This record gives sequence, structure tokens and C-alpha cells, in this order.
Amino acid sequence: MGSVALREIRKSYGAVEVLHGIDLDVSDGEFVVLVGPSGCGKSTLLRSLAGLETISSGEIAIDGSSIVHLHPKSRDIAMVFQNYALYPHMNIAQNMGFALKMAKVGKAEIDAKVRKAAEILSLTPMLDRFPKQLSGGQRQRVAMGRAIVRDPKVFLFDEPLSNLDAALRVQMRAEIKELHQRLGTTIVYVTHDQIEAMTMADKIVVMKDGHVEQVGAPLELYDRPANRFVAGFIGSPAMNFLPCKVQNGQAVMENGAVLAPAPAELTEGQVFTAGVRPEHFILSDHGTPARVTVVEPTGAEIQFVVDLAGHSALVSTRDRVNLKHGDTQHLTVEAGRLHAFDAATGARLG
Ligand code: ADP
Ligand code: MG
Repeated sequence: MGSVALREIRKSYGAVEVLHGIDLDVSDGEFVVLVGPSGCGKSTLLRSLAGLETISSGEIAIDGSSIVHLHPKSRDIAMVFQNYALYPHMNIAQNMGFALKMAKVGKAEIDAKVRKAAEILSLTPMLDRFPKQLSGGQRQRVAMGRAIVRDPKVFLFDEPLSNLDAALRVQMRAEIKELHQRLGTTIVYVTHDQIEAMTMADKIVVMKDGHVEQVGAPLELYDRPANRFVAGFIGSPAMNFLPCKVQNGQAVMENGAVLAPAPAELTEGQVFTAGVRPEHFILSDHGTPARVTVVEPTGAEIQFVVDLAGHSALVSTRDRVNLKHGDTQHLTVEAGRLHAFDAATGARLG
């Protein structure tokens, strides 16, 4: 078992509070990803859970028992860092078994656990090699192996893929997800990369400035972001935000251009910020006229920047449209895909 409960976690460095009362529940076996911009407190929260930082106040429990006063070694948690420095003079088997050796586990037991972890990670043929004889991805797997041999209740990962190139990141992303499915162990994973969060998580925790902005399944966050920050952070390319007013039940821009029906929660005359994802614009022969300023074919899709009533917006389509700078393209919005946010607070209105 490995359920985690964080209650009202606060952490200050000197006079500066960097975590402002975080609550979070992680179920046994769940893969939870903490995501947010650099400096929002992800590592601090993870390190607090591991016991590498002392929290200023709050409660942390694993399987219902408080671990706040436990030493990191006694918390039954294993952490994999971005900088997973392996011992260069030890072979892979020794690297993976080192923590167990330090904990005075018997040689036969260490061997068995290292073999089992190597099996899971497809590292068996490499156990006698040294770190410099391994690729970046293999070294990352050894770092995970060091955590697996300890058979912890909870795995913590802090940006483990940041040092890998783009192709390897995609491969390791799938490997870690598969590893989780095989081991069924609770994972709390930190990244600043929303794609990593979306593709790997059962549950995403979006953080900003030491606060939790929203918790939810990846597609819940994509479909119903709680506020403008989450709306802009989740999804790539990012959501467009356009100032609008409700007129005759429609979301209307400053120049009178009608974007789409306004969400039912809004009232006539209400001013709000409309959110439209690039992929939810429909190219049509009616609707809002938009002047094309930049065309960017990516291959799978064509992205183009338009001027919509004086505001720049990005549109993405899978159609092979033949657009060029200066063209006018009429746009509508897919039904039910217009988000509305409070123009001042950014809170979701509908
Ligand atoms: P993230 O991992 O989301 O990038 P961190 O948890 O590392 O963010 O940092 C959160 C905030 O705490 C940042 O403003 C950072 O400057 C500050 N911080 C982190 N570690 C320390 C420290 N040891 N002393 C003082 N401030 C720190
Ligand atoms: Mg960090």
C-alpha cells in the first residue's frame, strides 16, 4: 500500500513562504504529476514529502500514518532526480545495489533484488558494465533501478527526463508509464512540461506560485480548466484569449464580430475573456473574418496566426489549406468549445 495525504503544507525559507498551504491526496497505485512553471514550488513539495526539506507546518501521512517526524531513510520512499549521477567506478549491478549494501542487506538478497529490477528494466545484459558504457536512456533506467530495488511504498521523480534529448524523452516517458503499469506502485512525478504531465498522469496537479490551481485527470483539465492560468498552461499550442461581451446570447468581440454562442452561465451584456484552443476553430465560409499574418505548416497540421478584431490568435487545422499572408479566412468555433473566464480574476465562468 502507498497512499499519500498532504494537509495544509507550508514551507518558508527565512521570511519567504514558498508553499502556501498545499492539500493533496494520492491514492495507492496512482500516478500523480505535479506540473507548473519553474519556481512554483514543485521540487520543494516533493522534497518535503521525501523528508529532504523540513516543512514549516502541515501534515504528511502515508497509509494514514504521519511521517513528518521520520528521517528520509525511514519514510519508505525512493526518489529519482534529474541529476541521477551514477558512481562511475561501480558497475551497474553495484550502482543499483549500493543503497541496500549501505543498509546492511545481505549479499544474496541484494543480488536477487538487483536481478529482478534489471529484468523489469531490460538491463540484465548490462549489469557488469560501467556507467560510461551505457547510453543516456540506459543510465536513466539504472537510476530508476536504484529506486526499484528498495521496493518503496512511493516513488518520487523530479524532472527525471530533463537531461535527455527530445526523442529519448518520448521513449522514456512511455517506459516510465509502462513501468508504473507493471509495478502498480504509487508515483509522484514532477515536471514543468505539460505534455509530459498530460501523457503520463492519472491525475495532474497544476501549481503556480506555491498554490495548487487545479487537480484533475488530464482531459478534465483540457476540457474544463478552472481558470485562465490552467487554460493557458495545459494544451499545446496554447489556448487563445480574446476579450468579448455577451450580445443577444453571442460572444461578440469589440468590433462586433461574433465568435460563437456565449456559454449559458453568462448574462446578457457581461464582459468576459473568451478562451478558444487553436484546434477548436473551424475554417468556414461564414463566421468571423480573420486576416492571416503568418502560416506555419508543421506537417501533421497547419498552424496560422490571424488578426481577429485587432487581437492575434493561433489557429490549427489538419486540412491542407492553401493560405498565405494577407488572406482573409472566416472562422467559427466548434460547438461547446468556447471557454469563458472572468476578465479580472481569470476564474472560469462557463
Ligand atoms: P520548482 O521545482 O517548481 O522549479 P522550487 O521548489 O525549486 O521550484 O522553488 C520554489 C521557490 O522556492 C523558488 O522561488 C525558489 O527560489 C525557492 N527556493 C527553493 N529552494 C530554496 C532554498 N534552499 N533557499 C531559499 N529559497 C529556495
Ligand atoms: Mg524543481
